[in-house]
Amino acid sequence: MLEEKPDGLYCSSGAFYIDPWGPVHRAVITHAHGDHARVGSQAYLCASPTAPLLAKRFGIDAVIESVAYGEQVTLGGVRVSFHPAGHILGSAQIRIEGADGAWVVSGDYKRAPDPTCSPFEPVRCDTFITESTFGLPIFHWDATDAVIAELLAWWDENRTAGRTSVLFCYTLGKAQRVLAELSRITDRRVLVHGAMAPAIEVYRAAGVRLLDTATVVEQARGSSCAGELVLAPLSARGTPWMRRLGVFSDAFASGTMRIRGVRRQRNVDRGFVLSDHADWPDLLRTIEEVGAPRVLATHGTPEPLARYLRSQGIDSGVIRTAWESEAGSASESF
Ligand SMILES: [Zn+2]
Ligand SMILES: [Zn+2]
Repeated sequence: MLEEKPDGLYCSSGAFYIDPWGPVHRAVITHAHGDHARVGSQAYLCASPTAPLLAKRFGIDAVIESVAYGEQVTLGGVRVSFHPAGHILGSAQIRIEGADGAWVVSGDYKRAPDPTCSPFEPVRCDTFITESTFGLPIFHWDATDAVIAELLAWWDENRTAGRTSVLFCYTLGKAQRVLAELSRITDRRVLVHGAMAPAIEVYRAAGVRLLDTATVVEQARGSSCAGELVLAPLSARGTPWMRRLGVFSDAFASGTMRIRGVRRQRNVDRGFVLSDHADWPDLLRTIEEVGAPRVLATHGTPEPLARYLRSQGIDSGVIRTAWESEAGSASESF
């Protein structure tokens, strides 16, 4: 049903690519992160909540069609539908049904509750292509509530000391999740880097409740950021923009903060382990719920997962991608 081509995963009976990394005639997109949704294709098809995110990135000339979650469309000889992946707003698993049975391409997904998007829905299929960004048994996430409480405590500590709290996080998905989670326990306003404003706007328009925000640039010249929480992409680190922030403590919110080497390399004061991907137990639980006799892993560390699944009697292999790891900067290209 799907084959690996130089531009990515291709479905010949439907004549489309899934998350291609080159420009193609028809791209079916799991979600709006830069490593999955690339500019230049002639036509895009995605789940409804993803369309405004793609439109912001690709501009008004891009041809973007969308369908509601669960609704089937026929492309050539196959039926295609999108099902919530719980990763970011609009993220979807893509189900393809044809003469060879049903395939599901998970895209990125997580099982932890997230107030900014529809929860992951297990879809039974014959072949499941699962992401494996954190596909090692060492990855096991703490409850989100606990991480968010820690984050607020860190902000409070810095406030008391008259410091700015700078939280680096991905512009699309993580920033909005932090703003939504924090809105349950505080009503303070949060300052953001200008690069975060477009996606925040799309989330608000989609009805996601977030804390009030203002951009750092909107602040009056000479006004202090002391005591404020500022969300910024990693790419802002070390740029002149940081001079506006005064004395600060910095942190990074990412699943990669679980890895000591990455924490050291990032060299931030604090690391908050907050991931939009499934951890090892959730990968295994999902594969069990989906019930597919064949599972292909992709992204991150697919080999150990495929090997483990084979040891459990599941027909399993690996799909190579040109996607960059979450630790890279690909997700920041919004
Ligand atoms: Zn993603
Ligand atoms: Zn990804």
